[in-house]
Amino acid sequence: TYILGIETSCDETAVAIVKNGKEITSNVVASQIESHKRFGGVVPEIASRHHVEQITLVLEEAFQEAGLEWDDIDAIAVTEGPGLVGALLIGVNAAKALAFAKNKPLVGVHHIAGHIYANRLEEEFHFPLLALIVSGGHTELVLMKEHGSYEVIGETRDDAAGEAYDKVARMLQLPYPGGPQIDRLAAEGKLSIDFPRAWLEEDSFDFSFSGLKSAVINKIHNAKQKGETLKPEDVAASFQASVIDVLVTKTVKAALQYNVKQVIVAGGVAANKGLRAELEAKFANMNTPLLIPPLNLCTDNAAMIAAAGTIAFEKGIRSGLDLNANPSLLLK
Ligand code: ATP
Ligand code: MG
Ligand code: FE
Repeated sequence: TYILGIETSCDETAVAIVKNGKEITSNVVASQIESHKRFGGVVPEIASRHHVEQITLVLEEAFQEAGLEWDDIDAIAVTEGPGLVGALLIGVNAAKALAFAKNKPLVGVHHIAGHIYANRLEEEFHFPLLALIVSGGHTELVLMKEHGSYEVIGETRDDAAGEAYDKVARMLQLPYPGGPQIDRLAAEGKLSIDFPRAWLEEDSFDFSFSGLKSAVINKIHNAKQKGETLKPEDVAASFQASVIDVLVTKTVKAALQYNVKQVIVAGGVAANKGLRAELEAKFANMNTPLLIPPLNLCTDNAAMIAAAGTIAFEKGIRSGLDLNANPSLLLK
C-alpha cells in the first residue's frame, strides 16, 4: 500500500508518500522558520497563510520525488489534531478535497501518533512498547500493547519539554526555535548551577517543567541585579541536565515497571544530542532495545503521518468528508 500523508499542524507544510507503513518514497517538508523567527515564535495567522501558499507545491514535489501517480495511492492520511486550528484546517481541507476529487479513502491521524510512528520508518515495533514523547507541545510516556493503541501513563502537568527549551532560549536571547540553540550551547557549558528536578510523587510518571523554567528566570534575574556574569552556556548546560535527568530516569523506571520489549523516543526534542546520548548510555546496560529516529524524522514531517495512517487504514478506520480539525484532539 501507498499512503499519502499531509501534515500542517504547526509551522511546517509537509507531504509524504510511504510504502507499507515502513518505507519512505518521498518526504517533503517546507519549513516556515524564517518567517516566524523575527517574531520569536510561531504566529498562527502567518502559519495558515504559508500553508495555503505551499500545500499544492509541496504535494506536487512529493509525487515527483516518489515517481508515483494518483493511481498508485491507496489512501490519504492527514493530521486532524492537535495543533493550531487555522493551520490544521489547511491540511484537513486539502486532504478532503483530494479524497473527493481522486476518490480515495481518507484517514484522520493524531499528530502524536504520527511522532510515535516515525520510529516504525526505521524499525518494526515490538509490544508492549514504551514511547517517550518530547515535543513542542507534549511530554508524555505512552504504553502501547498493540498497533494503534495508546495508553498515556504519564504527562506534563504544565509546560512541555520543548516549550521549556524555547522559553529558556528566549531568556538567553537566542533565536527561535530555541531548542537546537540550547543544545549547541549546552555542549560547551559547565554544570555549575544546581537547578531543581521535579520528580513529583514517588510512583508518578508525570512531568513538570514550569518550576525549572522559573528557577532559570530567577537565576538570570538575580545575577543581573548583583552584577554577576552568568555564562549562557553554563545556564544551558545546567538547565538541560535537569530536563534530561528527569526524562531519562522516568523512562527507565517505566520501561522496567511495564516490562516493555522496546523503548522509542519521539518529537522534536528527541533531536537533542544530550538526551540521545544519555538515553543511549542508560539503555546500553539494559536488555530493552532503544530506538531514536534520525533528526529529520524527530521534528514535524508527513512521513510519520502516513506511517501512522497506514496502521489506521489497515484496521479499516476511515474518516468522512465531514472530518474537522480538532486542536485539542486526545490520543487514544
Ligand atoms: P507537538 O508535536 O507537541 O504538537 P510541535 O509539532 O511544535 O509540537 P515538534 O515539531 O515535534 O513540536 O518539535 C519542536 C520542538 O522541538 C521545539 O520546541 C524545539 O525547540 C524542540 N527541539 C528541536 N530540536 C531540538 C534540540 N536539538 N534540542 C532540544 N529541543 C529541540
Ligand atoms: Mg515545528
Ligand atoms: Fe510535532
